[in-house]
Amino acid sequence: MSHIAMPSAISVHDRVLEIDWSDGHHGSYPHRFLRAKCLCAVCGSEPDLSSLVSPEGKHKAPPISDDIKPVRLGKVGNYGLSVQWSDGHSTGVYTYEYLKKICQCSSCLKKKDNDPTLSM
Ligand SMILES: [Zn+2]
Ligand SMILES: [Zn+2]
Repeated sequence: MSHIAMPSAISVHDRVLEIDWSDGHHGSYPHRFLRAKCLCAVCGSEPDLSSLVSPEGKHKAPPISDDIKPVRLGKVGNYGLSVQWSDGHSTGVYTYEYLKKICQCSSCLKKKDNDPTLSM
């Protein structure tokens, strides 16, 4: 029995992918953000656990075009989502757990703003 929420609905908008989660959360993921967050080997992110602490700065991928968008979404088992992008990239897999963690909806962003470790 897994406690990880599953997407109950996924919709692709002009610039944003939206996921309705089974736990009632409404997630929001701008395409460019999501593309930049790809963890696959092609994007240069090795599964190095120490680097997971600081996800920023390890991506040396070429610039992502402004009009990037997913052209095809697929389910990977019952734990993730595969995305084929308009730039031809198709090896990215985003686990549901990861997607929940990087959610960019306004309430998740607000939570991050209030994170005391980031107070400035
Ligand atoms: Zn990738
Ligand atoms: Zn959220």
